[in-house]
Amino acid sequence: MAESVELPGRLGILPFKNQVLLPGAFIRIRCTSPTSVKLVEQELWQREEKGLIGIVPVRDAAEMTSMDSVLSQGVGSESGERSSKVQINTLDAHKVDGKSNSGVIQWHKRGVAARALHLSRGVEKPSGRVTYIVVLEGLCRFNVEELSTRGPYCTAKISTLEMTKAEMEQVEQDPEFVTLSRQFKATAMELISVLEQKQKTGGRIKVLLETLPLHKLADIFVVSFEMSLEEQLSMLDSVDPKVRISKATELVDRHLQSIRVAEKITQKVEGQLSKSQKEFLLRQQMRAIKEELGDNDDDEDDLAALERKMQSAEMPSNIWKHAQRELRRLKKMQPQQPGYNSSRVYLELLADLPWQKASEEQELDLKAAKDCLDSDHYGLVKVKQRIIEYLAVRKLKPDARGPVLCFVGPPGVGKTSLASSIAAALGRKFVRISLGGVKDEADIRGHRRTYIGSMPGRLIDGLKRVGVCNPVMLLDEIDKTGSDVRGDPASALLEVLDPEQNKSFNDHYLNVPYDLSKVIFVATANRAQPIPPPLLDRMEVIELPGYTAEEKLRIAMQHLIPRVLDQHGLNSEYLQIPEAMVKLVIQRYTREAGVRNLERNLAALARAAAVRVAEQEQAVSVSKDVHKLASPLLDNRLAEGAEMEMEVLPMGVNNHEISNTFKISSLLVVDEAMLEKILGPPRFDDREAADRVATPGVSVGLVWTTFGGEVQFVEATAMVGNGELHLTGQLGDVIKESAQIALTWVRARAADLELIAAEETNLLQGRDIHIHFPAGAVPKDGPSAGVTLVTALVSLFSHKSVRADTAMTGEMTLRGLVLPVGGVKDKILAAHRHGIKRVILPERNLKDLVEVPAPVLSSLEILLAKRMEDVLEHAFDRGSPWRQHSKL
Ligand code: ADP
Repeated sequence: MAESVELPGRLGILPFKNQVLLPGAFIRIRCTSPTSVKLVEQELWQREEKGLIGIVPVRDAAEMTSMDSVLSQGVGSESGERSSKVQINTLDAHKVDGKSNSGVIQWHKRGVAARALHLSRGVEKPSGRVTYIVVLEGLCRFNVEELSTRGPYCTAKISTLEMTKAEMEQVEQDPEFVTLSRQFKATAMELISVLEQKQKTGGRIKVLLETLPLHKLADIFVVSFEMSLEEQLSMLDSVDPKVRISKATELVDRHLQSIRVAEKITQKVEGQLSKSQKEFLLRQQMRAIKEELGDNDDDEDDLAALERKMQSAEMPSNIWKHAQRELRRLKKMQPQQPGYNSSRVYLELLADLPWQKASEEQELDLKAAKDCLDSDHYGLVKVKQRIIEYLAVRKLKPDARGPVLCFVGPPGVGKTSLASSIAAALGRKFVRISLGGVKDEADIRGHRRTYIGSMPGRLIDGLKRVGVCNPVMLLDEIDKTGSDVRGDPASALLEVLDPEQNKSFNDHYLNVPYDLSKVIFVATANRAQPIPPPLLDRMEVIELPGYTAEEKLRIAMQHLIPRVLDQHGLNSEYLQIPEAMVKLVIQRYTREAGVRNLERNLAALARAAAVRVAEQEQAVSVSKDVHKLASPLLDNRLAEGAEMEMEVLPMGVNNHEISNTFKISSLLVVDEAMLEKILGPPRFDDREAADRVATPGVSVGLVWTTFGGEVQFVEATAMVGNGELHLTGQLGDVIKESAQIALTWVRARAADLELIAAEETNLLQGRDIHIHFPAGAVPKDGPSAGVTLVTALVSLFSHKSVRADTAMTGEMTLRGLVLPVGGVKDKILAAHRHGIKRVILPERNLKDLVEVPAPVLSSLEILLAKRMEDVLEHAFDRGSPWRQHSKL
């Protein structure tokens, strides 16, 4: 670094155009102009000892305010190519004579002595011109006393501006200088640390700060800053160290501020940029991934559609908030992410559920409701009456918490269609939910969403399907719900049917309360007994016992046949089913409490008729009608010898129209032969009972099943053995015990009944008894077969057949008392259906006979029994077997 140098009195001068070299700075210049080449050659290149030259700033005269002295002199500047006129500033520079032709330059009065650190000489080819590249180091300031342009380059008489050591020491004592120095140092340190953060290169400069005298450092520091020429010149002119340091402090500080401001701006811009750029980048990546996966459907659009749907779902505010939270979560997810789909399906459900949407309830017209029920259903007077009462209460008090209606009866008796008629009468939508076989509570209440494959319960699902919040909801087969380890669906139903609780029904999947209070529930069951008592307690049971043959006939004629014909595109012009044939269908092909099979058989007849009509129409079309339609066309075409054109009958024209058009008569009247042809040989006949009881040991019982009342035969037989009782036919414990009781009673009374010879004491001596209940695949249970079992055993041991026209029911005690049983009405109806003429009933069941339709009752002989003997008395021809014996 620049140590104090001895300056000669005269120096070769290199003009430095519009630039300043300060002490401590380095500069590399290329000299090409003849003057500068000469200067370098003579002052630096050819000197043996280290040569010095003076660098004096010059300025274009155009920038000057006054100019009077012009020196015509070619000067090689840093670029070194141009020569220009030189003018000496009149104020502070020497006047130099010269020719004034092309321009003027102004010499500064101060310069800096510089020495060459590096010199290289080159010769341009082919001109042979010599050039130099010089690296110079600024050493110290000098004053230009006199400038001379005589000679090949400028020279100047100079005087040094450097202080002597003693002078310098004196200045350093000056407190002002000390303060200024401290200030400079602090600012410089600050700058260094800022630069350090940016480039991590501050270490070396810090060392300089510690080692170099500050007045020199001031020059070095400012060299690297961007400064105007004026500032550079004033720095050069600052000969006084105090002035120099304070100027340098100012410059350093300015530089520091500008760095800070620049930093702030870049930080701000960078921050903004990076956020949006990041998003952009991520989106681009996402798009690329989607394209790669072939997953191009636009989820954003889908989500927007979902949001719109949610907005129009009119959710209550708390649920809307919940849904929005979920939607926000969904929006942040990728479609491939686990949970995306389930979350979406959930929101779809929330949007689809009818939160407020209700079908508008018409002003209830009871007369119209009655007409509606009557037009859909034959008979059922009491049931209809009860429904009208129910509707009347609703009319007077729409929010009345009336009981839930529960229709109980065998299949096909119109339970479902009654419920849908209620909906029609109220002008509400109808939805049916099947509860048959539901054992899992989650089927009613839904699964929690944490489970894979979770879904809402059947109620919520039903509401989603129906799309209104006030439908008539049919809980079908409510007696078929069971309970197991997965919970008790019936208890969940309790909440549903309780008007106090169902205002905020909580489906586990939905996880937000749903108001079920506007829903009208109607339940159906085949039997009331399996329904848990608390549930039954919330319902009003309306029994539909099943129809008599006469009722079935009426239903068939008035409702089923017209409906079936319509469903098959037929009318009475094509198919007529006479009443007598319907009767036959009822007797021979169906033996059910309801009318479902009857309807099915009638539909089979209608299908057969439809085929025949279709076939006939085809034949007619081809033979005459197409000809009739096409004939004018054909005549023309054939005359021209052209190709034939066909007229085609439009499809979709219904049968009625076709027959009107073509006036065909394809009326099909069903007769007995046709019945057999279409429905097959009769499945039931009245001789069944007679055939089966032809051999002793068989009796006819009446039982009660989910399909209503049924006739049940009991078969007993004896074989060689050692007194064991075998029971078959899928029997439950109760019925097995009944068999034991029956056998015990018969054994106990064997002698009285004259079932054994006088010398025998044991009825089962050397034999086993086997009792079988046919239809072995159907499980059976209950106590009401007691009397039937005894009758079968007595018949077996007495070798007397029971009467084929007599059926019986009744529980018996060990001592032979006959106890009343349930389902009397159904059983009597079943007996009637089977063509049974006499029914033996426990005496105490007399009261139940009022429920039996009068026509049925009048066609049957009801025999009441108090004791087992009474039963036997009625069951056999000509009275009890032992009486017969005694009579003999
Ligand atoms: P359930 O629900 O009791 O099993 P459905 O209501 O399904 O029986 O009835 C079966 C068919 O029988 C339906 O087509 C219904 O219209 C008809 N039906 C039942 N009872 C009557 C009736 N009393 N009058 C007219 N049609 C009836």
